[in-house]
Amino acid sequence: MDVPDFELDTSLLGNSKTLDSTVYYDLVIVGGGPAAMSAAVYAARKMLNCAVITRDFGGQVLETSEIENWLGFQSINARDLVASFVEHVNNFDMAVASDMGVAGIEKEGDIFRIKTEDGNVYSARAVILATGKRHRPLAVPGEKELVGRGVAYCATCDAPLFRDKEVVVVGGGNSAFTTAVDLLKVGAGVVMVNFIEGWQADEALQERVHRAENAKLFDYHQVVRIEGKTSVEGVVIQEREKGEEKLLKVEGVFVEIGLLPNSESVKNLVALNDLGEVIIDCSCRTDVEGFFGAGDVTTVPHKQIIISAGEGAKAALSAYDYLMKHAFV
Ligand SMILES: Cc1cc2nc3c(=O)[nH]c(=O)nc-3n(C[C@H](O)[C@H](O)[C@H](O)COP(=O)(O)OP(=O)(O)OC[C@H]3O[C@@H](n4cnc5c(N)ncnc54)[C@H](O)[C@@H]3O)c2cc1C
Repeated sequence: MDVPDFELDTSLLGNSKTLDSTVYYDLVIVGGGPAAMSAAVYAARKMLNCAVITRDFGGQVLETSEIENWLGFQSINARDLVASFVEHVNNFDMAVASDMGVAGIEKEGDIFRIKTEDGNVYSARAVILATGKRHRPLAVPGEKELVGRGVAYCATCDAPLFRDKEVVVVGGGNSAFTTAVDLLKVGAGVVMVNFIEGWQADEALQERVHRAENAKLFDYHQVVRIEGKTSVEGVVIQEREKGEEKLLKVEGVFVEIGLLPNSESVKNLVALNDLGEVIIDCSCRTDVEGFFGAGDVTTVPHKQIIISAGEGAKAALSAYDYLMKHAFV
């Protein structure tokens, strides 16, 4: 399955204003996934002077092709779903920076200072952090150097590039097995490597890989390094008890060992749990007044699009209550 690159139709953002560092916004929403976009719609409908700062629109939704659990649709293309979110947000008059990372957030008195990666600082009376999650890296030699040149993190995006090639999939859960199935479908030979003993994916998924002729599985092995000059040529793995190493001659490595919350920008501001997720209560409040969290970056259980969208709505309504209570709006 060939998945085209998604490019946001910027005409969809025709109504949006540029961010202004001299304005005190009622609310700044950080992120551009379902949580942030839902928060933006709810904030705009409450007539808040709101700004959205995000690296992109769509977030993790764009890592898959079809969504089959978004209410009202048996199946909807992920890009179409994101485009409909963006179009909805665009109906409202708000400031949007859609290719901008937030580097840090501080609180001075009642005002939050949001510092972006280009060095600008924006001010707001309330903030919603909806920055989602990203793939956990393996952190072995060769990985960083060969990202996009054989090292990949998204089978939906990249599996077609490995048609009839040999590929390692690292991980033992559902994501790793789904990746293996996608690769087997395009005729790739798959070697699965799992750090711990056994395999953690659902039985049905495991079964599809176990019975494939061109799949090999090594549990209780770790990846030591990825080799290759300009692209991946091999992966060295090590049996964890005896320490025996073997070189797997492959052209690709898919890393599927979990996700990390994008919470670095607030690690000195709000309480995080051991996983780095922003701790929220059932109203999306954090331990810092006026600072709210929504979606996958938070402790909310069951990370899903519909849940993130619901959490975004809830966070915006809680932010509105906060602003009203303090007579900021
Ligand atoms: C491969 C895959 C398939 C999935 N399939 C499904 C499915 O079929 N159904 C389902 O319900 N869920 C699915 N999910 C889960 C779903 O995509 C997530 O639960 C959902 O996208 C989370 O939304 P979010 O808005 O909380 O975060 P995200 O979607 O992660 O969005 C985070 C946003 O924040 C931005 N951001 C991050 N850091 C910063 C920063 N410092 N400054 C500014 N912006 C920043 C990002 O650019 C992004 O726009 C899937 C996930 C993956 C990875």
